[in-house]
Amino acid sequence: MVAQVIDGKAFAAKVRAQVADQVAKLKEENGITPGLAVVLVGEDPASQVYVRSKGKQTVEVGMNSYEHKLDADTSEEDLLALIDKLNNDPAVHGILVQLPLPKHLNEDLVINSIDPAKDVDGFHISNVGLLGTGQKSMVPCTPLGCLMMLRDYHGSLSGMDAVVIGRSNIVGKPMAQLLLGDSCTVTIAHSRTKDLPDVVRRADIVVAAVGRPEMVPGDWIKEGATVIDVGINRIERDGKNKLVGDVDYASAAERAGAITPVPGGVGPMTIACLLANTLTACCRANGLPEPEGLTA
Ligand code: NAD
Repeated sequence: MVAQVIDGKAFAAKVRAQVADQVAKLKEENGITPGLAVVLVGEDPASQVYVRSKGKQTVEVGMNSYEHKLDADTSEEDLLALIDKLNNDPAVHGILVQLPLPKHLNEDLVINSIDPAKDVDGFHISNVGLLGTGQKSMVPCTPLGCLMMLRDYHGSLSGMDAVVIGRSNIVGKPMAQLLLGDSCTVTIAHSRTKDLPDVVRRADIVVAAVGRPEMVPGDWIKEGATVIDVGINRIERDGKNKLVGDVDYASAAERAGAITPVPGGVGPMTIACLLANTLTACCRANGLPEPEGLTA
C-alpha cells in the first residue's frame, strides 16, 4: 500500500481562508475585528521567528495583531501587569505568551493569569480541566490541527484504536483527550512504555509527538493505518540540514493508508488553529455563534 499524503500546508491554507471569510463577515455585519495579542519575553531566535509568523498570518486573515516584545530580564510583576491589561482590553480576544519563558519567570503562574476565555493556546488549567471533562474549552492548537486533519480524512473516528506517543501537556495529553472525545479507544504511550512496537502495531491511528528523529519505523505501522507525525527534528544528513519527523516517512508511507509529511504536515496547521481559536474566542465574547468546523 502506498499512503495518501495528508497535505497540511493546503489544509492550513483552507482553514485560514475559512477564518478570513468569517472575520470579514464579523466586520461587516457586527462591526467587530478579532484581535490577537502575542507576548514575547527575551530574544530566543526560534521564538522570534514564530512570533513574526503569527503576527503576519493574523493580519493576513484580517484580524488585529498586537505584539508585545519585552526584555529578557522583565520582572514577573511587569509581565503579570501586562497580561492583566490585555485581559481587560475588549479589543483583545486572544492572548498568547510565547513559550519557553526565561528561567526566572514561573510559566504556570503566567499562563494561569491569562483570562481562560482569551487563552487561545488552551494551556490554562481551566481549559485543561474543561477539555478533560468534555466541556467547551479553548483547545491547544497543535492537537486541534491534528484532529481537524483526522476528521477530514476519516469523517467519523468513532471506535478506532488510536495511540498517541508522547504525554506532554502541550501535545500528547490534549491529543489523547480529543481522540477520546471523538470516541476512539486511546492508548497514551511514553518513554516508559514496555513494548512500544506492539502498542503501535495495534493502532488504526498513530500520533507521534516525541521529538526523536524517525524513531517509529514503517514495520511498526499497521497496514492501512493513519499516521500523524507531530515531531519536528533538525538533523544533518549527507552534509545538509534537514527537518524530519518522529516517524521514518519512507518506510511508514509504504504501509500506512494516509500519512502527514514533515515538513508540510502538522506544522502549518498550528498557526492556522491559533487563528481559528482567536475567531472562536471573539465569537464567544460577543455572544455570537461559533464558526463551524473550526473548533473541537
Ligand atoms: P516533550 O519533550 O514535552 O514530550 C515528549 C514526550 O515523548 C514525553 O512525554 C516522553 O515521555 C515521550 N518520549 C520520549 N522518549 C520516548 C520514547 N523513546 N518512546 C516513547 N515516548 C517517548 O515534547 P512535545 O512538546 O510534546 O513535542 C514533541 C515533538 O513535537 C517535538 O519534536 C516538537 O518539536 C514537536 N512539536 C511540533 C509542533 C507543531 O507545530 N508541529 C508543536 C509542538 C511540538
